Parts: sequence; C-alpha cells; structure tokens
Amino acid sequence: MDMQTVKELLSILNEMYPVSLSEAWDSSGLQVGSLSWPADRILIALEPSIDTIHEAIEANANVLITHHPLAVTGIYGIDIDTYPGSVVAKALKENIAIISIHTQADAAVGGLNDFILQQLGAFNQIAPLSPSETEKGGLGRIAFFVTPISVEEFKKTISSVFMYDINRFSLPKETIRLSSIAICAGSGSDQIPAFLKTVADVFITGDVKYHIAQELLYKKRGIIDVGHFGSEIFFLPMLFQHLTEKFSKEKQDIAIFVTKNEKSPFSSNEL
Ligand SMILES: [Zn+2]
Repeated sequence: MDMQTVKELLSILNEMYPVSLSEAWDSSGLQVGSLSWPADRILIALEPSIDTIHEAIEANANVLITHHPLAVTGIYGIDIDTYPGSVVAKALKENIAIISIHTQADAAVGGLNDFILQQLGAFNQIAPLSPSETEKGGLGRIAFFVTPISVEEFKKTISSVFMYDINRFSLPKETIRLSSIAICAGSGSDQIPAFLKTVADVFITGDVKYHIAQELLYKKRGIIDVGHFGSEIFFLPMLFQHLTEKFSKEKQDIAIFVTKNEKSPFSSNEL
C-alpha cells in the first residue's frame, strides 16, 4: 500500500470531526507543510510548540496533530526567532507537517465533550448545548444522569477525572443532588447563556471568571472550573483512540504517539 499522505490523513480527520462544525473564527486544518507529504508517523499534542516539534523529531514523526492552531488571530509575518515563526521554521526544516483539529473536535459527535462525559458517569440522554444548524453535533453538551448523583460524590468524580490542572468548585448550597450537567471543554464561558436556558444543575468548563461564578450563584446555578488544559488534555487519549481504531480497521501501518511532556502552566502535576 502506498504511504499515507497528509491529504489522506486530513480527509480521515474530517470524517471524524467535520471541518464544517468548526467556528468561523477558527483556523483548523493544515498549519505547516504540504498535502503531498507522507503522514504515517503521527505525534498527538495540545500545542504546536517548539517542545512538541522536538518531541516529534525524537519520535521520527512526520506529522504533528495538535488541538490548538498556531494562531487564531492571523499571522502577518514569519519571524523565525519568535513564536509562531520559530515553530513554522523548525517544522519546515524537519519536514514535519502540523495539522490542527480545534473547535470541530469539541463539536463533533463522539468528540471531546462526549469523550469526557463517558468518564463522568452513566447518562441516558446527551445533547448539544448549542446544536449546529447544518449537521449533527454542536458546541457543549447537556447530559442527564441515569441515576441522580450527590454533590459530594460528583466532586470526587471530578477530582479523579480532571487530574492535570487545578479544579475550582462554585456550587450553590441548595444543590444537593445533580440530575444533569452541562460541559464545554476549553474556554466555554460563552456557552453560559445556553446553559442557563437548560435545567442542568452545573456547568463544567475552563477559564471561568470570578464575576461569572458570582452571577451564577445568584441564579442558584453551579459552575466547576476544571481548567482549560485540564479539560482539553482529553484530546490526546481521544484522538489516539479514534485513530488507532480507524487504522487497525483498515490494517494500515501507521505509528501513533502521544506527547509526554505537556503540562498545565497552572499546575506542577506531571502527565
Ligand atoms: Zn483550547
């Protein structure tokens, strides 16, 4: 079988996490490299950083797939001495393609939010907080427990699942048991209006501001900040699992590695 190209890998990724589900401001897709380059040794990471490029070199990888793109605000020049130019230069020099799968990985059915929910309990109904108008999936999720869970028990679950960042709980004293929860991995505060329209007892996301937690308390609604990194780190095992399943089904000889060196800037916890 011919060696898989970046183009073929992108089309596989698009089947799993359709680009049409990505946000308008996002810049997912091929960040650096060529569609014609080989793509049979893949390193998965959160950030396209000099450190993860070095990890890719050590693993002899020819593709680095990251959750975050190089930039979402636009790159207006390539200065190879500063980020992100340094990463672009190093990747090109080493013939390593960089692909980003960002907001479509959150929004896709079976994507990041669904993957995290699998670890938070048994649910009998899961739906997007902000459904896509064009296809299945959408931003955030609301999930209804098969059996309502006590706040104390759920706090233990949160602490055991979200182990790689700092967790902060803001829960109204009136909340004793949780029947449903909402989640948006990453920086999901823009989904709070959608959360408030639901019956979900608590919203799980990262990057929560003090005043947002305070405002939600007045409304007797809970929020748990599990960190931007803490929630998105699940991108690594999710993509590893999805790609492994895909390639083993098609009997393709593709090597997949996961970064071992990334950690939250806010935590000293090791992966
Ligand atoms: Zn993010």
